[in-house]
Amino acid sequence: MTRNLTPEQQNHLATLLPQGSLITEPADCEAYATDETREHHFLPDAVARVHTVEQVSAILAYCNEQGIPVVPRGGGSGVSGGALAVNGGVILCLNHMNRVLAINHRDMTCTVEVGKITGELKAELREQNLWLPPDPGSAAWCRIGGNLAEAAAGPKSVKYGAFRNWVLNMEVVLPDGTVFWTGADVRKFASGYNLTQLILGSQGTLAVITKAVFRLITPPTEENLLRVAFPTVEAAGETICALFQAGLTPSEVEFLERDAVTIAAKAAGEPIDAAVGAYLWIGFDGNHADQLLAEAETAAHIAEAQGASETLFADTPTAMEKLCRLRKRVGTAVIEQTPFRDLDLTFPRGRLAEIVNLVKAVGREYGFESAIFGHAGDGNLHVNVLRNGLDNQTWNQSIIPGIQKIYDHTIAIGGAPSGEHGLGMVTARYQPEGARKSDHHLAFLGNALANSGILNPDKQKTFIAKMGRPK
Ligand SMILES: Cc1cc2nc3c(=O)[nH]c(=O)nc-3n(C[C@H](O)[C@H](O)[C@H](O)COP(=O)(O)OP(=O)(O)OC[C@H]3O[C@@H](n4cnc5c(N)ncnc54)[C@H](O)[C@@H]3O)c2cc1C
Repeated sequence: MTRNLTPEQQNHLATLLPQGSLITEPADCEAYATDETREHHFLPDAVARVHTVEQVSAILAYCNEQGIPVVPRGGGSGVSGGALAVNGGVILCLNHMNRVLAINHRDMTCTVEVGKITGELKAELREQNLWLPPDPGSAAWCRIGGNLAEAAAGPKSVKYGAFRNWVLNMEVVLPDGTVFWTGADVRKFASGYNLTQLILGSQGTLAVITKAVFRLITPPTEENLLRVAFPTVEAAGETICALFQAGLTPSEVEFLERDAVTIAAKAAGEPIDAAVGAYLWIGFDGNHADQLLAEAETAAHIAEAQGASETLFADTPTAMEKLCRLRKRVGTAVIEQTPFRDLDLTFPRGRLAEIVNLVKAVGREYGFESAIFGHAGDGNLHVNVLRNGLDNQTWNQSIIPGIQKIYDHTIAIGGAPSGEHGLGMVTARYQPEGARKSDHHLAFLGNALANSGILNPDKQKTFIAKMGRPK
């Protein structure tokens, strides 16, 4: 693998792009040396700003031939270090491929290039009474390609699923420059290998995604929101289980524990209720306000039965915005306060209190503080380990076994290291269990596909012959 580009390689790469689209000056590459992990800095040798799939194909084919590392990049909002040029080489910046190519009202689909800013796409669709539900907190600057590569999600995923659940088809480019579509623009697909789902969440390790076709729905006309205060994390955790057991289908179930509340409240200039151990935000959406109100009332009764100390209700946009201010503010409040490491744990949702208590106990043992919040209805919490006053030795060495303990326990109870942020250099130093799983995944990719001639061989021919079609 080439670490630094030779002048010949730089010159050749430049010929594959429109004039001025290959950046090689270190000062200009600097903007691509970091992402939202913020701790890490890797200066790429070059940044290729591509405008067409043909350019993506040409860059990949050449880098593949020359052994030059290529790291695709969208908005750079990732928090797992996936978009960093850790091994040098070329950052493939896809942000200029940002057109909405088609909106099909009859079939309720849209086709977009992956450099489109997620929030802009959602807003443009909304103007046409169409809705793509996944709603990452970074929607204002992350890109569709990054969302697909990270299998991103958001608060609404508890009812509507993650980006994974909305993609019908993708145009992708393989490392050798081959361009193809992974499936078809249809809602059901039993016509061969599900390459769409294989490439989703693969974080730019298998292919570069260049276009995507999404299914859409019409947005709900009504919604409401409860903010419920609990004296303990246990009471909040029991409430979550009881909500679903009662047959409710909330559109969001978000969580903040005491330390996260303190940070968010300070940043938002709000007073802190000393008796609060945790908050839940429980939302409902649909087209019938009366029904949603009844669901919210049922949820409030369930929470009260579990010991909720205060329940606030809102059903207008302004009041809901005000009610969820702490939840919305917490992510940036942490960023503003201190460097942090975000453990994006996912686990069976009934184990919420166990995970929160474990993190706090490990923090006391190893000497770190944490702020925990996130998508509790999905069993997905962002455990932010806070640097605050920790010295280099403690931050980089002493607390590492503590973080490992948290990952190990999460995996031992049936969870996984990441629910939506993905694995990257940030998580690579931990998770021996996860690494073992990855070995199996690698074995699958390298071995099963290449050597599976003995498995239902006749069917394989049909599969490969009938799958998808080029566009
Ligand atoms: C304040 C804040 C809030 C956030 N909230 C959420 C949230 O609610 N939900 C959530 O899921 N995440 C959230 N994130 C994390 C992050 O925004 C997501 O992971 C997002 O999907 C990354 O998109 P991006 O365009 O910025 O990707 P990048 O950071 O540019 O890249 C991320 C990864 O995707 C790969 N990649 C990018 N584009 C392509 C492509 N076209 N083809 C192949 N690989 C590609 C990169 O190589 C890298 O591995 C948040 C981050 C911040 C800072």
